[in-house]
Amino acid sequence: MSEIKTQLVVLGAGPGGYSAAFRAADLGIETVIVDARETLGGVCLNVGCIPSKALLHVAKVIDDAKEMAAHGVTFGEPKIDLDKVRSWKDSVVGQLTKGLAGMSKMRKVKHVQGYGKFTGSNTLEVEGKDGKTTITFDNAIIAAGSEPVTLPFIPHDDPRVIDSTGALEMQDVPEKMLVLGGGIIGLEMGTVYRALGSQIDVVEFLDQLIPAADKDVIKIYQKYVKDKFNVMLETKVTAVEAKKDGLYVTFEGKQAPAEPVKYDKVLVAVGRRPNGALVAADKAGVNVDERGFISVDKQMRTNVSNIYAIGDLVGQPMLAHKAVHEGHVAAEVIAGKKHYFDPKCIPSVAYTDPEVAWVGVTEKEAKEQGIKYESATFPWAASGRAIASGRTEGMTKMIFDKDTNRVIGGAIVGINAGEMLGEIGLAIEMGADAEDVALTIHAHPTLNESIGLASEIFEGSITDLP
Ligand code: FAD
Repeated sequence: MSEIKTQLVVLGAGPGGYSAAFRAADLGIETVIVDARETLGGVCLNVGCIPSKALLHVAKVIDDAKEMAAHGVTFGEPKIDLDKVRSWKDSVVGQLTKGLAGMSKMRKVKHVQGYGKFTGSNTLEVEGKDGKTTITFDNAIIAAGSEPVTLPFIPHDDPRVIDSTGALEMQDVPEKMLVLGGGIIGLEMGTVYRALGSQIDVVEFLDQLIPAADKDVIKIYQKYVKDKFNVMLETKVTAVEAKKDGLYVTFEGKQAPAEPVKYDKVLVAVGRRPNGALVAADKAGVNVDERGFISVDKQMRTNVSNIYAIGDLVGQPMLAHKAVHEGHVAAEVIAGKKHYFDPKCIPSVAYTDPEVAWVGVTEKEAKEQGIKYESATFPWAASGRAIASGRTEGMTKMIFDKDTNRVIGGAIVGINAGEMLGEIGLAIEMGADAEDVALTIHAHPTLNESIGLASEIFEGSITDLP
């Protein structure tokens, strides 16, 4: 058993945890970071954001090459070497986790590998491959993240039933796969497997895919993917029976097939549950709710004054960039700065094809909250760049406060929507109004022009689209 005394321990080395640890070390605080994984980076780098984007890149190149046939250039049928695809994805992850290890070393942040549990409000016990370590700390930041939700009627121990981590392992390309859950993670993985050759069915309990986004935006996405995925909305899975020749899935609801359908694999992507209950936070006196969330104030402090919490386990949206900013706030508050986590907006992006991205209030939320708003949309059928790229299905939508004309939200569906969204986020944070955005000269021809043009439409300075 080894013992460590430190000013700060960070439990969990995901984007929240490593950002907090690095910021704390930069501010002169002696910091130890603990993670059950051998590499830093948490879910996001190891089995989340990054490997999924490496595979989505592969999928995009395959799809783009196929689409070129319509523009006069035909490539041969793609030959998929799954081992090489997997090594490409692993090399991307490896490059980034190695980079983090270097940054950690440079800052003298000590990394303890192992599973950590609190034993008091100033002590944590870690059990790792090198034995037990007791860490005594002045302050702690809990950044233990989340894990995929499992369902009681699904045989999760069958290797043909996978979650996002299993899907990223790329064991094979199943002939027919069911994506259970029409949210971002399920659709991104469905996009990858479809491009590699799988036939994909998607089942969603609600009446639209990506339920958090506005219906008019999602309608465009759904229309584009209707020939690519078999989507069953307002439908649920009630049973999955594992037989030798496949997984037999029974459905109920509006678009449910009458008989059970056989699949080679089922990807369960019905959400993530916070890991708050798994760190023995109660031993430190920290309150954890029945779902596993830990509540914090605007300075990321829990009900115990020297213990902070950040990232997926403090609440929605469960996104890496939210965790990073919360991590910075927690570290700065521990260093004595009077900082708060108080963003006006947190962007959400589905890196599907086409991408779906939104920030600030959605129209749905504006209605629910009684906000007086007006919206303006620019259809990409009128965008020179979208036409030249052969991808006119997109739309840019801006939401303005009716009284002040300030930008309060925006959504984009189309290629590169995620990259474009930053401008709308900045407009919201800076309190820009429609005129500010409309008068900003956007380069031509870019997809970004559509943000300026939607604002001009709102202003009334364009009445007819070209
Ligand atoms: P996590 O990244 O969850 O890390 C927590 C770490 O804590 C883990 O490494 C875990 O091993 C460790 N841990 C937990 N308990 C203990 C313990 N008791 N002892 C020791 N270690 C422990 N978000 C985006 O913003 N953009 C995306 O494109 C995106 N894509 C995603 C794709 C997939 C497939 C998945 C699954 C998620 C994706 N996310 C994405 C979500 C994103 O990964 C999370 O929001 C983010 O990782 C949360 O960061 P975190 O710091 O809260 O913790």
